Amino acid sequence: MANRPKVVRTVSALRRAIAPFRAADERVALVPTMGALHAGHVALVREARRRARRVVVSIFVNPTQFTPNEDFGSYPRRLATDLKILTEAGVDLVWAPTAAVMYPEGFATSIAPEGAALAGLEDRFRPHFFGAVATVVAKLFLQVAPDYALFGEKDYQQLRVVTRMVRDLDLPLKIVAVKTIREHDGLALSSRNAYLSAAERAAVPVLYRVLRQSAAQVRKGAPVARTIARGHAEIRRAGFALDYLEARHALTLAPIRSRKDGPVRILVAARIGKTRLIDNIGV
Ligand code: AMP
Repeated sequence: MANRPKVVRTVSALRRAIAPFRAADERVALVPTMGALHAGHVALVREARRRARRVVVSIFVNPTQFTPNEDFGSYPRRLATDLKILTEAGVDLVWAPTAAVMYPEGFATSIAPEGAALAGLEDRFRPHFFGAVATVVAKLFLQVAPDYALFGEKDYQQLRVVTRMVRDLDLPLKIVAVKTIREHDGLALSSRNAYLSAAERAAVPVLYRVLRQSAAQVRKGAPVARTIARGHAEIRRAGFALDYLEARHALTLAPIRSRKDGPVRILVAARIGKTRLIDNIGV
């Protein structure tokens, strides 16, 4: 059985813990999370271990990326279980700062991502989200100074925003994308799936089914607009309130009209009961 990872809660303790890795010229990979870990997070850790000798997982439920009517207060927090999962996954260090450590008194500096962050997808429903994510992720990168940082394709717009930020600010690390881990019926694993009632849980596979069908049709050359409209109807029929279902350029997230306009990604966000789910697929 592997050793339980060390948990550090201040920036100075983090730097002290990482210094020996650097002194030994070991590569370091960072997996940023909000905790409530599941097999999706473990897939990120596994890929991190393939790339680097040392793996740091951050656990921080970032208050600034939640709006007042979102689930910051009720977001699942279970550090003890998370530590068990990370012990088995073979992680070296857990970076679990408090909000006061992350945002010291008088905090007044943030990152304002544009491009994919203003694509009109998640940003339409959560206008402050990507600024808050970019700021906290930039802080994590500067705190840990990793060689690699692992992000899930599950949060595709976030992956594009962070990749762009690293490029634009010349941050000295490589972003590695990891494929979405799913339940057997296609539901993308998410800490928020715990909010689903049994009846809602039975309805949710429609999202991935529609993504798969839409991707197959667009790949065959079907008109994007008609394919997407059919998907809208199917998702609404299953009892969802649909925030968006859209085909976009896979890198810039700009709107596209046909598969000839570039590599295509189809993205969806929909609400059922109290739960909001997002997912996406490559064409
Ligand atoms: P979160 O804790 O939800 O903020 O997610 C932390 C990281 O895990 C992000 O890079 C997510 O994209 C990634 N992630 C979450 N769910 C999955 C999943 N089902 N498959 C792969 N990666 C995931």
